[in-house]
Parts: sequence; structure tokens; C-alpha cells
Amino acid sequence: MGRRVVIVGGGISGLATAWYLLSSSLADTDIVLFESESHVGGTARTESHQGYLLETGPNGFLDNRTAALDLCHQLGLENDLVRAAPAAKHRYIFLGDKLRRIPAGPWEFLKSDLLSFRGKLRVLAERFVSPSTCDTDESIYSFGCRRIGKEATEILLDAFVTGILAGDTKLISLPASFPRMREMEREFGGLFRAMSALAKQRRQSRSKGKTSTGVGSPAGTLTTVRGGMGKLMQRLAERLGTRVHLASPVTSLDRGADGTWHVTAGGQPAISADAVVLSCPASAQAKLLAPIESTLSAELASIAYAPAAVVVVGYSAGDVGKIADGFGYLSPHRLGRPVLGVIFSSSIFPEQAPAGAVAFRAILGGWGRPDVLNWDDAELVEAVRADLRTTLAIDAAPQLTWVCRWPTAIPQYHLGHLARVSRIDEACSRLPGLYLTGNALRGVALYECVADADRTARRVIDHWRSS
Ligand SMILES: Cc1cc2nc3c(=O)[nH]c(=O)nc-3n(C[C@H](O)[C@H](O)[C@H](O)COP(=O)(O)OP(=O)(O)OC[C@H]3O[C@@H](n4cnc5c(N)ncnc54)[C@H](O)[C@@H]3O)c2cc1C
Repeated sequence: MGRRVVIVGGGISGLATAWYLLSSSLADTDIVLFESESHVGGTARTESHQGYLLETGPNGFLDNRTAALDLCHQLGLENDLVRAAPAAKHRYIFLGDKLRRIPAGPWEFLKSDLLSFRGKLRVLAERFVSPSTCDTDESIYSFGCRRIGKEATEILLDAFVTGILAGDTKLISLPASFPRMREMEREFGGLFRAMSALAKQRRQSRSKGKTSTGVGSPAGTLTTVRGGMGKLMQRLAERLGTRVHLASPVTSLDRGADGTWHVTAGGQPAISADAVVLSCPASAQAKLLAPIESTLSAELASIAYAPAAVVVVGYSAGDVGKIADGFGYLSPHRLGRPVLGVIFSSSIFPEQAPAGAVAFRAILGGWGRPDVLNWDDAELVEAVRADLRTTLAIDAAPQLTWVCRWPTAIPQYHLGHLARVSRIDEACSRLPGLYLTGNALRGVALYECVADADRTARRVIDHWRSS
């Protein structure tokens, strides 16, 4: 008889794990994916209303990390990839009641009004700050203050972290969330030194006709799939076919004395499996593992999540006038504003609004403002409109408003996260056949979820090949 692997959760992590297992040359393997909702995608889905494309979660992925891009190629989506429009390159920070452009180069930085003269000098002094030799965990805030000074940390770094994690820089672990920054300090002695050395490496690789995707790669371009990110999820589901079982929440997990796993889903009798991959959120993993390994369950349950609401407002182009050319703006989390940031979605991806219309997509809430998730739709929309009135002088009534809430949107890799993940891995190694993936452990960005899904599938395969 062949082997069976059960995957719990049909977000990108579970779908990609199933896909990599299916694409492997393992014969005689039954892949079963259970998803509790009646659709795949988890937080990554696309809806369509009044001609607008509305992303419930990720707006895209960066094309300089190969995992998500390769996956799209494997699924035959290479001709459907859409890069952010070049006009959308400028980014802004909402500070002191106006938008201030994030400088793109040294000259712009010197002229910028984002930091005081003293704050700028402190950033420039980064080159002369010795690298830390300490190997302990460190918050993003502490790293930033050490390297670029308090002012730049509280404005630039805070806004950057808000845009990605909607979290608090004083709580988030730098090595767990942005390991590349620590690598840059360790390898090159500092961030500026690293950027100069890496730019040089890139020039050399380009002259030799090579492409670079490692620490030295450029920031990457936001990329989506024509029709929205939901199309990637749909394509995965199509390729997996009847292996995907929707509206089938896994309610219990059990491990027999012979090491066989028993999985109960969707009110059906339990099915047995040789391996189980949990790709559901950490709280759901914790719940399923509680009867099997209480310490492992407690570790998973203690991973915190930031809540977020996504609000899209769409206007007739004539009502908006000329909007700032650019990608969008962020508001540092520290300021406690309800709106964390707004992207000019139809400037980035014109397909996201119908002809003659303009779409803005705001993220509200985050770690510091969980109260915002309790606001009703009208209050959320009004907060976005108030922001747009101040930042872009848009006073007209929107022709479309759309709201989506995620009470547990983004896992927060707080201080101690890497040590926690080591303990989780150690506990899993005592339960052969159990694998954990998903955005709560080794990376929140979509491409990181895909990379971890690939690693997880390889681990399942290696285990089977060696047993
Ligand atoms: C608002 C928002 C914006 C984002 N923007 C970006 C972005 O622009 N770029 C980027 O790279 N990343 C972005 N992210 C992050 C990225 O989208 C997520 O980290 C990623 O999609 C998570 O995928 P996942 O499969 O690990 O988890 P999820 O998408 O949470 O999927 C988990 C799945 O498990 C299912 N499940 C739960 N319990 C059970 C059970 N008991 N049985 C069966 N199924 C179960 C759930 O229904 C869900 O479908 C964003 C996230 C959010 C929320």
C-alpha cells in the first residue's frame, strides 16, 4: 500500500507544500489537503466588485526572491506576471500632517525634510559604528538606534516595519524578522558598507551576465498575477484537483502507538496518514497538538498576531484630481494612527480599478491599535477618507468602499522567536511524521511561505526515502 500525507490548511503554505509533494517523483503517495473554509487561499484571495480587483491580503510578492516567481513559472503563469508600474516608484511617509517623500538616493536624502539635520548626520555616521559582536536576540528598535540613531529609527525604520508587519519595533526581533540586516552588519561591518559592497558585486555580476538573488540582490519589484493573487491560489487548487477538500476543518489529530497519524476532518471518520503537515495558523496548530504534546502546543499558542483591517476606496478619476505619483505612504506605528498606510493600488497595478477610476487600499489597526478592528465599516471607511483628505486633498465621496477584517492578520516574531522555533523543531523531531509550516514560524512574506513549503515537502520526501 502507498503512503499518505495529510496537509491541514489551504493557504499559500499548505497549497504550495501539496504542490511540491505532487511535483516530486515520489510514486504511490496519496496527498490529502483539508481546508476549513469553502475556498482556498487563506488570507490571500481576490474579490471583484464594480470592476475593481480587491485583494484580501497580499498585494503581490517581490520578484527578487525566487521562490514565488519559480512557483508561478511551474504553474504556467509566467505570461500572467504583472510588475508594479514604473511610475509607482516613489514612497512617502505621513508625518506632521503631510506626505514626505522617502529619499531614493544620497542627494535626495540630504535635501529631504523627513529628518532633522542632526538626525541625518547620525544616519550618515552609521558607516563608523562598529558592528555588534553580541550574539543575543535584539529588537529592531535597539538595532536601529545603535546603527542609524533614534530619530531615523522612529521614523524610517518604524514606517518600514509598519508596512510589512504592522508591529512594534521595540518588540519585534531583528534576527527573526529581518535576518538580512544582521547579516549585513556581520559580514560587511555596517549597512552602508554592505550596500556599497553589494552594489559593487551586482555591477560585477551584471558585467559577467549573471543575476544575483542573495543578500546582495536589489530590493525587487512588487509583482502580482493578472487577475489578482487569488489566481495563483486557484491555479494551485486546480492542479491539486480532488486532493483539496474544502469546508473540511480538521478537528482532531491523534498518533497511534505504531506512529500512524489519525486525522478527523469535516465530521467524517478519521483517516490514517504516515505524515501530517500543519500549515494552518499557529493557534490552530496549537489546538490540534494540545492532546498530543502540551509543551509544543503552548509554544505555538504563544506566538502573537497583529490584527488588521483592509479598506479599499475607489473614486472616479475626475473626482480625485492629480494624485501623488507613487506607490503609497506609511504612517509610523509609533504615532498610533488608525490608518497604518495607504497604497495607490491602481497606480501600481492599473488593473485594480476600472477605466476612469482610481483605487486606494489602506491597512488599519496593527499591533498598537487592536481597537480599530471593532469599528464598524462606516467608521473604518471614514478614517481612510479623513486620511486621504489630509494627505491627497480628496474630498469627493468614493464610488466603491470595501472592507475586510483579519483579527489575526500578521504573526509577530517577538524577541525570543528564534529560540521558540528551535524548541518547536526539537519537539516535532520527537514526533516523526509531523511537520509544521505556515507564516507563524520562518517568514511572513508570501515568498517566504512558499520557500518554507518547498523545504517542508523536501523534509517529508527525505524522511520517506531514508525510512
Ligand atoms: C492584510 C495582509 C496583507 C499582506 N500583504 C502582503 C504582501 O503584500 N506581500 C507579502 O508577501 N505578504 C503579505 N501578507 C502576508 C502573507 O499574505 C501571509 O503571510 C500568507 O499568505 C500566509 O499564508 P499561510 O498559508 O501561511 O496562512 P493562511 O493564509 O492564514 O492560511 C491558513 C489556512 O488554514 C486554514 N485553517 C485554519 N484552521 C484549520 C483547520 N483546523 N483545518 C483546516 N484548515 C484550517 C485557514 O482557513 C486558512 O485557509 C499579507 C497578509 C495580510 C493579512
